[in-house]
Amino acid sequence: MVLIVSTVAVTMLLAVSGRAQQNQAAGAGGGQGRQGGAPPVGQGRQGGAAPAGQGRQGGAPNMDNVEVHSLHVSGNVWMLVGGFVNAAVQIGDEGVLVVDTMVEPLADKMIAEIRKLAGDKPIRYVLNTHVHPDHTGGNVKVAAAGESIVGGNFAAQVGAAAANSAQIWAHENVQVRMSQPQGNQPSPPFAAWPTDTFFTDEKEVYFNGEAVLMLHQPNAHTDGDVIVFFRKSDVVVAGDVFVTTTFPIINLQQGGSLNGIVAALNNILDITVPREKQEGGTYVIPGHGRLTDEADVVDYRDMVTIIRDRFQDAIKKGMTLEQVKAARLLRDYEGRYGATQGFWTTDAFIEAAYKSLSQPPAVSSNR
Ligand SMILES: [Zn+2]
Repeated sequence: MVLIVSTVAVTMLLAVSGRAQQNQAAGAGGGQGRQGGAPPVGQGRQGGAAPAGQGRQGGAPNMDNVEVHSLHVSGNVWMLVGGFVNAAVQIGDEGVLVVDTMVEPLADKMIAEIRKLAGDKPIRYVLNTHVHPDHTGGNVKVAAAGESIVGGNFAAQVGAAAANSAQIWAHENVQVRMSQPQGNQPSPPFAAWPTDTFFTDEKEVYFNGEAVLMLHQPNAHTDGDVIVFFRKSDVVVAGDVFVTTTFPIINLQQGGSLNGIVAALNNILDITVPREKQEGGTYVIPGHGRLTDEADVVDYRDMVTIIRDRFQDAIKKGMTLEQVKAARLLRDYEGRYGATQGFWTTDAFIEAAYKSLSQPPAVSSNR
């Protein structure tokens, strides 16, 4: 099963990067009929070769032509695909649990797809894998489309309003980052923030007859990543610690690290069990890209580990960043994961990886 996704990793900079939006639109086949602020059709839009820095900066990403599709994965879990970004839902008698909410402009389409799958069952929980706006952008709308069960003192204290929205769960560092501006991006509205956070290794909920585990992955893509494990359905939702489209995305400013990514990939592999001939078994939904199983994660983990060791070796030999770039240490993987334009270029990855291994981040968790 091949899902159409952009080869360009469009992540947290989507909301402010016109170039990324253009590449995304071109990659998703949505480059035509873009009214309202889109650059003139036919101008450098073919083949994804959008000129850098043209138009659309600062505006909301144009998602008019992007659909939200669903794919039943296993048990109670469906994968939701919104062009370049993935989310997931678990549906059962008790209602709906949502993992990640895509970008804000896709929220209504995402809710419509959930309604198609779940009818009028209430959305009770929204879990966020990390802070980025392509995974939390629909928090306000999706949570508002849901409801919580509240009672006793809590209902008396905060009033009925608390019941009119789903709970939003995330690691504490998601809350910390959401509650202050990030770079030139303003803080998202209060209603998008987590209602429940945790600072331990794990947070658990038992819902629809199934244990659902949020497992913190320290200093990986950011410092607030979790993978979500549906223990009965046997599905892992990885967020951006695992993508199939590019080299690993490391956000150094937000506490990410290359070694944290390797650790997170190994943690996913601790959970996954393959079926016959290494196909199927536990399924893994990446933050961006196609649905995968253990063998795919093994391939990716091996690639990242080999690359990490090459960088580590180069740093030990005293090579500078420029020398490492010139040495083309990723040559054999560039065809599959490299990019010369868009948000996450090969050079951007090399720079982040080099810095990450030269100056490991402060530990973000208490483990
Ligand atoms: Zn991300």
